[in-house]
Amino acid sequence: MSRTDPPPPQHRRLPVRLRRTFATPETVFSGIAVSPGVAIGPLFGTAEPAPEIARQKIQAADAPAEGARLDAAVAQSRKQLLKLKARLEALPEDSQSEIAPLIEAYLRMLGSSRLIRGAKRRIAEGLLSAESAVLCEAEAIGAVILAQADAAASGEDRAGVQRRADEVTEIARRLVRNLTRAPFQSFTGLPEGAILVCPSLRPADAALLDPSRLAGVATEEGGADGHTAVMLRALGVPAVLGVPGLPAAVRPGHTAVVDGTAGTVTLNPTAATLAAARRGVAAFVRERQRFARLRRLPAETVDGTAVELAANLELPIELPLIQQCGAFGIGLFRTEFLFMNRETVPDEDTQAETYRAVLEAMGGAPVTFRVLDWGGEKEIEALTAAGIVPEITDTNPALGLRGIRLLLRQMDLFETQLAAILRASVAGPTRVMLPMVTTVAEVLAAREAFDRVARRLRRRGERLGEKLPPLGIMIETPGAALSADALALEADFFAIGTNDLTAYTLAVDRGESDVAGLYDPLHPAVLRLVQFSVEAALRMHRPVSVCGEMAGNPRLTALLLGLGLRSFSMNAAAVPRVKQRMRGLRIEECVRFARRVMEQADPQAIAALVDEAGR
Ligand code: PEP
Ligand code: MG
Repeated sequence: MSRTDPPPPQHRRLPVRLRRTFATPETVFSGIAVSPGVAIGPLFGTAEPAPEIARQKIQAADAPAEGARLDAAVAQSRKQLLKLKARLEALPEDSQSEIAPLIEAYLRMLGSSRLIRGAKRRIAEGLLSAESAVLCEAEAIGAVILAQADAAASGEDRAGVQRRADEVTEIARRLVRNLTRAPFQSFTGLPEGAILVCPSLRPADAALLDPSRLAGVATEEGGADGHTAVMLRALGVPAVLGVPGLPAAVRPGHTAVVDGTAGTVTLNPTAATLAAARRGVAAFVRERQRFARLRRLPAETVDGTAVELAANLELPIELPLIQQCGAFGIGLFRTEFLFMNRETVPDEDTQAETYRAVLEAMGGAPVTFRVLDWGGEKEIEALTAAGIVPEITDTNPALGLRGIRLLLRQMDLFETQLAAILRASVAGPTRVMLPMVTTVAEVLAAREAFDRVARRLRRRGERLGEKLPPLGIMIETPGAALSADALALEADFFAIGTNDLTAYTLAVDRGESDVAGLYDPLHPAVLRLVQFSVEAALRMHRPVSVCGEMAGNPRLTALLLGLGLRSFSMNAAAVPRVKQRMRGLRIEECVRFARRVMEQADPQAIAALVDEAGR
């Protein structure tokens, strides 16, 4: 997956200020290590090709709305750049002095500039869509600027003129990206073995990546357990997110090292850094080979306690990895990824086929299908286009109409998915899981729909099993955790989603790099909610698992076992690591350890205990 002999740099002209940055011998950027492994490769970055927008005409009556769309995109772009500016201080001083003037130039262009005024005129008078207006105006301004380059005498002047043209193109691209919310379709042009660097990567964009072609990923935005991080771990691509100032400092085609274990990105690596990185790549390959041998060994502790280790699945392309990692079944199938990057919502037949194929591929091992969890950062264009969900706005999308709340309001969408899962369920052991539950009433309403759909299918002559698949819930809000005893009366099983549980308990966005330091699943408040939920489930003899990112962290295996958990679901790559750790643990000791942890009030004291026990 990594490449040690990168191709020669692409000859793309860069702003002079940035060129000076690259003259510095080696720059190490730090961020959040989200997906382990080391990657060496040529950078592919902010220079994605200009978006292809046809010259779209609009009706005169639509011009005011189009102008308002442009205003919103300008505001969003300004917000992104101001945020970036605020985070520049994390950069080395010389990089700061290179990048800060560039951001100022971008911000000026988002004010009352020729670009914005011209684009507005093209909307109002030329009746162009906002995207077309921005691109046409940027093209016109660029042409005028470059005409000056021909007239310029010295090389230095010419470079300055080119830089101004690049800046206009860059800001136009940002505006169009914000207008279209388009995924990075240009991934198809990603050179093999490249390292992708971009300001931010939406989960839908991450779903488009081909892990066999990509060496690594680094972004400026993002947090440890956001869905983008979850996807990158699932794809097994070494990745570092939340690296301030990185996209502005990269030079496409030049070599970089991404260390997804240490959380660093090194630009212009020295020979010594490259040699160390190559050793890191080799060590990672050896580790994978060692883990492959664990595959057939049982998942049990030293004292013989059996533990279920299942895998999380986002996309069917992960199936081979899941089959090879030694997981028993799929403990969390995040179905929302099937709805992304397509123009229409998949119908019942399409969904049923996909679900059946996954069940068949698992060869009799159980699959837990989580019904669509739309909301938060998981944006799905097809649902917005069909008018099923509103556009995600900035006002607390994580607290809005998401998960089961949306499904109960959009019964057609919910029942179609339930029907597809029920039809597929004849192909193997199936469980159905509800996301973002907060009340017992939601479980009751969902079960009513489930039973209704089953009756309808039977009337239609569909062959279903005599007993319907178990219907369980995610425990991923503090409300659900604290009502776990009541919920256990109605739900057939629990799966604890520690990612959202941490975010909602601590009021910290999981994908936001600015507050990434506060996102802490080892906070005693989170652990108490986990403990409370496990105890409620065990009292009611309900199966309970953990399927958030905590499950795949071998540092936390002893603690989770000690809290009573015997079922874990995680990204496939983590299964062997957790299995190895588990096979060296005794339940009695885990219980004693968990007791000590639960006596602590300070998250740092808990982290220290966990580190000590992991040594
Ligand atoms: C969770 O919240 O822990 C979880 C598993 O669900 P998701 O990461 O898909 O939100
Ligand atoms: Mg969740």
